[in-house]
Amino acid sequence: MKAKASAKVIPQYVLEVLLRLATAGFQGYLVGGGPRDLLLGRAPQDWDVATDARPEQVEAIFPVTYPTGKRYGTITVRLGEAQVEVTTFRGEGPYSDGRRPDWVRFSATLEEDLARRDFTINAIAYDPLGEVWVDPFHGRWDLRRRLVRAIGEPRERFREDGLRMLRYFRFQSTLGFKGERRTMQGIVPEWLVGVARERIREELDRLLLGLAPGRALHGMTASGLLQVILPEVAALRGLAQGSNHRFDVFGHTVAAVEAIAPDLVLRWAALLHDIGKAQTKTADERGIHFYGHEVCGAALARAVLQRLACPRERTDRVECLVRHHMFYAGPELTDAALRRLAARVGSDNLLALLELRRADIVASTHRYDLAWADFYRFKERVAALLAGEQVFSRKDLAINGNDLKAVFGWPPGPKYREALDQLFHWVLEDPARNRRETLLAYLHSLYDQGDEQYGKNHNGENN
Ligand code: ATP
Ligand code: MG
Repeated sequence: MKAKASAKVIPQYVLEVLLRLATAGFQGYLVGGGPRDLLLGRAPQDWDVATDARPEQVEAIFPVTYPTGKRYGTITVRLGEAQVEVTTFRGEGPYSDGRRPDWVRFSATLEEDLARRDFTINAIAYDPLGEVWVDPFHGRWDLRRRLVRAIGEPRERFREDGLRMLRYFRFQSTLGFKGERRTMQGIVPEWLVGVARERIREELDRLLLGLAPGRALHGMTASGLLQVILPEVAALRGLAQGSNHRFDVFGHTVAAVEAIAPDLVLRWAALLHDIGKAQTKTADERGIHFYGHEVCGAALARAVLQRLACPRERTDRVECLVRHHMFYAGPELTDAALRRLAARVGSDNLLALLELRRADIVASTHRYDLAWADFYRFKERVAALLAGEQVFSRKDLAINGNDLKAVFGWPPGPKYREALDQLFHWVLEDPARNRRETLLAYLHSLYDQGDEQYGKNHNGENN
């Protein structure tokens, strides 16, 4: 086997944990993603250790531990800077709620522990000290076949924990594997209904960031799972676009997800960018239209992400990208309009919009030539804008409220905000105007006539 070569990739601190367990007379195995990724030649995300030591015994062996999941047998062990999760072999009782077992038992064997895991490729145990592999469900064979296959009876396993149905597709995406047909047939989409939305979103996040999200998304539609989790996206299936499009809206969406850079905000934005199209489709003699789909879609995107308990900052960004993804990038775009767009969305989102547009073009039209010409010209203009003096918000103005108070002496009130708003829009027309003297002169021209009561401090000390 590859044991010799792989031992080099296992970090020293992991070997140290296993060695200390062995010295204390306990078994210790790497389980889960670690052995799987080792065999695939991928870098594992984390190293999980399974042992026959009870949680209290693990705490006694290692000087620094945290009881992160002690009820379920998991103790986090700290060695220097590194942390390893050490979990006692678990046997499980029945699942009556479709989410977690009714009881867990810590007197189990390694084989029992592996049997409660979800897929054969995730149920391989490896002891690097003795170079022993324990693989009762032939996970290594499935790794070679590049296949995601449930352990035992798929239908029962999915009824126990509905999230496993989503994980079936998640691993197809992250590993680029096929799904076993028999496992697919065990899927009953309704079993996902009671599963915590955070768990669902975390699996969706990983699925979207994977190597083959398109395969997973198509599989989820075929199984009916997408209709339960993301009905707004499933509704794009069969929604035809004009004749210069390669796919229906769903096919286009999937192609955009695959084309866009693997970043959570971008992948979610690509997945949701056209969800407004199902509700806005119209047709006339000139063709098919989706007027306002970006406005409708932005609201839908926010609702979807809130339903999935997505962190607020990401929800805000995705909503903004969906809202603005139809931005005009052609030759008639004025510099002022470009600056207004930049000011409205912010510089991060401006770059993200560019990437979304790139993916949108790749995923949609046959008329690459025209779209790309505009795209690259627009990209250069964005780069020039970002390299130059930027005014993205009222905070970037060369004067602030304190300056206004010193110069004009206005009493507190809405006037300050109004004045800064006015300056901001004036500067967006021409960034060279963002000089203190220029701005103050402009304000004097606006406010000096008929405003005597505020005019007492024209030659204020800051002038
Ligand atoms: P990744 O490298 O992407 O983290 P992973 O295999 O480590 O993949 P985790 O979600 O971290 O996936 O889970 C660790 C291990 O725990 C899995 O490999 C699997 O053996 C087991 N496992 C996790 N979730 C479930 C579940 N819902 N049902 C059964 N076993 C599970
Ligand atoms: Mg993991």
